[in-house]
Amino acid sequence: MSQLLVLNLVLCLLLFSIPKTTSSSSLFLSSPSRSLLRSIEDNNKNDNVVADLHPHDYAVDINVTNFDVVLRDTPATFAVVEFFAHWCPACRNYKPHYERVARLFNGPDAVHPGIILMTRVDCALKINSKLCDKFSVDHYPMLFWAPPSKFVSGGWKPKQEKNEIRVIDDARTADRLLNWINKQMGSSFGLDDEKFENEHLSSNVSDPGQIARAVYDVEEATSKTFDIILEHKMIKSETRGSLIKFLQLLVAHHPSKRCRMGSAEVLVNFDELCPLDMDSTSKQENNDGKGALGNIQICGKEVPRGYWMFCRGSKNDTRGFSCGLWVLLHSLSVRIEDGESQFAFQAICEFVHNFFICEECRQHFYEMCSSVSSPFNKTRDFALWLWSAHNKVNERLIKEEASLRTGDPKFPKMIWPPKQLCSSCRQSQSQSGIQWDQDEVFKFLTDYYGKKLVSIYKDKNNHESDKSGVALDDLAVSTNAFVVPLGAALAIAVASCAFGALACYWRSQQKSRKYFHQLHSYKEI
Ligand code: FAD
Repeated sequence: MSQLLVLNLVLCLLLFSIPKTTSSSSLFLSSPSRSLLRSIEDNNKNDNVVADLHPHDYAVDINVTNFDVVLRDTPATFAVVEFFAHWCPACRNYKPHYERVARLFNGPDAVHPGIILMTRVDCALKINSKLCDKFSVDHYPMLFWAPPSKFVSGGWKPKQEKNEIRVIDDARTADRLLNWINKQMGSSFGLDDEKFENEHLSSNVSDPGQIARAVYDVEEATSKTFDIILEHKMIKSETRGSLIKFLQLLVAHHPSKRCRMGSAEVLVNFDELCPLDMDSTSKQENNDGKGALGNIQICGKEVPRGYWMFCRGSKNDTRGFSCGLWVLLHSLSVRIEDGESQFAFQAICEFVHNFFICEECRQHFYEMCSSVSSPFNKTRDFALWLWSAHNKVNERLIKEEASLRTGDPKFPKMIWPPKQLCSSCRQSQSQSGIQWDQDEVFKFLTDYYGKKLVSIYKDKNNHESDKSGVALDDLAVSTNAFVVPLGAALAIAVASCAFGALACYWRSQQKSRKYFHQLHSYKEI
């Protein structure tokens, strides 16, 4: 063992002493094994060839426990996995290069988010030994490239043919790594690219397939909604009922399985997490004032990732959260059963009224909710009402944004859906407006916010559950469900239960609670 340690050390020091002009292949020299030499770490504080550009890392540290989950759940099209050893000076020198590239693709300020996930695995940690062996890691740093799903349960062998996982063999500097990536992707990413500059966002107006990327935004919006609710201490005795209703809707019909499960967890533990006297300051002191709920990540620990995909604006201050929220509401509206439509209408109206932090939006939406005179009893009617309400907002904003120039130039507001997305939705167009074929619109909404929205996501889940019978465990991990006395609720969520079953279960748990929060309470605005 001690010989191995010495050998590792010598190899690493050799790598470290290679001049900067050394060719890429020679930097990535072979080392026969991995080992734990943490003590060396501190001796090399000043060794970086490039000064650290940012105080925090952009590349995501992963290990054997979350390797598959992170790579399975990322929305990115490609992933880079760097295998390194924390004690290795060459790796430490390489880190700023790797980080310069990761800055472009990872984190909330990513310049090109959602395209490449840049990760690293520390092979010097014992728990990762088997993982590093699966990838035949024989030198540090060693970089691999593939679509993220190929890494899940994957591996790499030196002479293996037909492996979609490729070794990045020319990555010695940030420039060279990015060149290599550009060659693979036919892209022209540059190290100096800045956020919202030279943006080539693809339009979601002419490509119906783009909505598949929005499932991640729906998760992001859900997660952000709950962060805002907690941060602004919006759960009060008079708003609890509305939140519970909205959670019920999410548990049964959220398009993302992990958000359904997270919502179930909150719902079943609601009394503990949000005690009735939550308003009192003392209860909100822990977790940055968020109370016990602050411990729960409603859509799992991988969310939020801090960036938007479908809802990404071409400017810093456009689109994002409110777009994600609309997509969530539409996706709920097409998923409910006929018998749930009035409940869904009330839940959404109350939710927007009590928890959407944009005052003008709440007011307008309240007016539209209040003008509904008879209860909904069909999914179709409610989905079309929401679509039409959204178009009324669009109509107003078309004018406002034109005069104030506050809109996103790449995503101008429009009466939706445009012809390019659904030509059969429009019967005719005259000066008095568009005549819609409402059957066609409903069909389009159902397909767009139903099947298409979850097309990427669903494939992944099917793939997973095909492979093993441990889907529930996986999901429990991905929801970060550390308080799990709720087998029943998880099962309910997993099975995407009908409302009735959940409501019934939940009522049996919460017999003593009363919350009659009706639409008329809006009058308090
Ligand atoms: P969004 O309008 O957010 O739409 C998101 C996506 O939904 C679009 O890209 C499109 O693909 C799709 N879409 C567009 N129209 C429809 C439709 N009719 N039916 C189904 N899908 C559609 N802002 C204000 O300034 N004033 C307001 O009063 C106001 N009220 C709001 C009320 C609610 C409930 C919400 C969630 C938001 C509200 N906003 C309001 C914000 C505003 O509507 C937009 O969300 C924001 O300006 C960002 O616009 P966007 O271009 O991303 O598209």
